[in-house]
Amino acid sequence: MRTPLIAGNWKMFKTVNEAVVFVKELRDLVKGVSGVEIVVAPPFTAVHASADAARNSSIGIASQNLYWEREGAFTGEVSPAMVKEAGAAYAIVGHSERRRLFGETDAIVNRKTLAAIGVELTAIVCIGETLEERERGEMLSVLDRQIKDGLDQLSAQQVARLVVAYEPVWAIGTGRTATAAQAGEAHAHIRKRLRQWFGGDAADACRILYGGSVKPDNIKELIAEEDVDGALVGGASLEVRSFADIVTRSGRPAI
Ligand code: PEP
Repeated sequence: MRTPLIAGNWKMFKTVNEAVVFVKELRDLVKGVSGVEIVVAPPFTAVHASADAARNSSIGIASQNLYWEREGAFTGEVSPAMVKEAGAAYAIVGHSERRRLFGETDAIVNRKTLAAIGVELTAIVCIGETLEERERGEMLSVLDRQIKDGLDQLSAQQVARLVVAYEPVWAIGTGRTATAAQAGEAHAHIRKRLRQWFGGDAADACRILYGGSVKPDNIKELIAEEDVDGALVGGASLEVRSFADIVTRSGRPAI
């Protein structure tokens, strides 16, 4: 059984102090919650302090990005080993804002994913179609290309430990959530492709998160879909109570 995962992507919000205050408050708010993995992704500057504040709690820390080289003359970039040593256990790769604003291609996403996995960070690989692509009927072929090229050269064992985030670009920061049925359809398609290309064990183990205007009042119906294993949350992860609410509502009954 896949453990649900709720990850908060803070984007370019929160100073070091704000991040630490948030993590400390979140620790208290989710103390009694079990059966759900919790991750927050602060800006690079706050990764280390956030990880310190989260020590000995169930909260994991992600970087929002990384570079694929180990070290070198790459001004402004941060390596996988650096974010790992700073305390991150996860790395978000290929967020649609990186793709759209910073020109990240599937080939770049692939290099970053392999680099993250190479230092044993859990990669959270974002995929998703734009509104134009959906309206042209290209949703499934766009997802196929992003999965095939973005996960090129990964082994079945690596895919089993991977997290894929399906984030329809038209639902990010717009208040327009995909319906549970739309999310369910896309997730089922993604899992079908993972099964076809990486085998049944990898497809069954890989967690597929939904992202796009997730809020406390829509998480339950999204996560009720069979192939929705949690959420990547942007706006609603910035306020600690709403993020804690989403986490609390995502726990599944123990068997
Ligand atoms: C995101 O940035 O990954 C995201 C899903 O944002 P929001 O929840 O604000 O739509």
